Amino acid sequence: MAKDILILPGDGIGAEVMAPAVAVMTAAAAAVGIELNVSEGLVGGIAIDETGSPLPTGTLERAAAADAVLLGGVGGPRWDDLPTDQRPEKGLLGLRQGLGLFANLRPALLFGPLAAASSLKPELVAGLDILIIRELTGGIYFGEPRGVEVRDNERVGFNTLVYSEHEIERIARVAFEMAQKRGGRLCSVDKANVLEVTQLWREVVTGLAGEYPDVELSHMYVDNAAMQLVRAPKQFDVIVTGNMFGDILSDCAAMLTGSLGMLPSASLASSGVGLYEPVHGTAPDIAGRDLANPLATILSVAMMYRYSLDQPGAADAIENAVGAVLAAGYRTADIRGDAADEQVVGTGRMGELVLEHLSV
Ligand code: NAD
Repeated sequence: MAKDILILPGDGIGAEVMAPAVAVMTAAAAAVGIELNVSEGLVGGIAIDETGSPLPTGTLERAAAADAVLLGGVGGPRWDDLPTDQRPEKGLLGLRQGLGLFANLRPALLFGPLAAASSLKPELVAGLDILIIRELTGGIYFGEPRGVEVRDNERVGFNTLVYSEHEIERIARVAFEMAQKRGGRLCSVDKANVLEVTQLWREVVTGLAGEYPDVELSHMYVDNAAMQLVRAPKQFDVIVTGNMFGDILSDCAAMLTGSLGMLPSASLASSGVGLYEPVHGTAPDIAGRDLANPLATILSVAMMYRYSLDQPGAADAIENAVGAVLAAGYRTADIRGDAADEQVVGTGRMGELVLEHLSV
């Protein structure tokens, strides 16, 4: 049966990085013998321009009915003066909420030839392969009550960090299952020495461990996790944590790899649909100049094959092709180093090179 894929290029470099990613996606589908029904929709600034809304109803409905959604990025200076609730970013938040995307997966994978681009010493990061799983629809970013009010003649700001057992259990199960498919190690990050809500988090996660005897579970306080990520990042396999801790730790882990242009992400829902997108934004400073690195979006396609289309072979093949292109010395401008054998190429050529190296 054909798989339905909704493509949302969005704004800025979105359409530029999407074109090579779709070409790689299509070639991989043909190679593994699956049929894809690919259609395109509007989200973000371009959707505001064309329909007046950053997330037209039709886009959300089509996304909900799809097997997977591939997103470029949203936003840009053109729409920066709009009121907050009409901005392009509202389109992205609406998609996350509307699709119930509670699990955000961000791998920090360092391709050997790029080890020198990391802010850490190459020996600390060579071969780095971590997966951070962040709870995306709960925690302090959504908890009530929230606000700023006057108490005893001064303003007081407050937010609520809240997690219910079912929210903890469903993200923990995703994490245990991912650990089973990877290195078999799961580290749950909390602040159980101070916060009651994360004591519950730790209790619920620990309670599930018996169901996953092949996964070695550990716990770490978030302050220590931040320190360990920059001290000895290769000790981690899968990390699972709440919304705010995950927001911070995943950016920290991302920088270990040295380039925003290389980082893919996936967001998964209980219903099965997955949203795949590069971690970077719409890079208005380089848009339309064939300078954008398409590899983060191409690697997001690999994640789509792994987590939504159940084709791990295609996912491996795409990641291997990216590795081979880098090993052959090809770089986009953002990941160029100073090695003599490097050859700097544009967005389109980088996409062609991945296609040329793709063998499924
Ligand atoms: P950005 O990620 O777009 O750019 C940061 C820097 O990294 C820029 O110098 C840019 O040129 C560079 N860069 C980013 N992606 C690159 C790529 N693929 N290849 C080469 N270089 C790349 O972040 P920003 O500048 O803070 O934001 C720009 C716009 O993107 C804003 O409107 C912001 O709201 C939006 N944004 C959207 C998303 C999203 O849709 N998920 C995420 C972050 C930012």
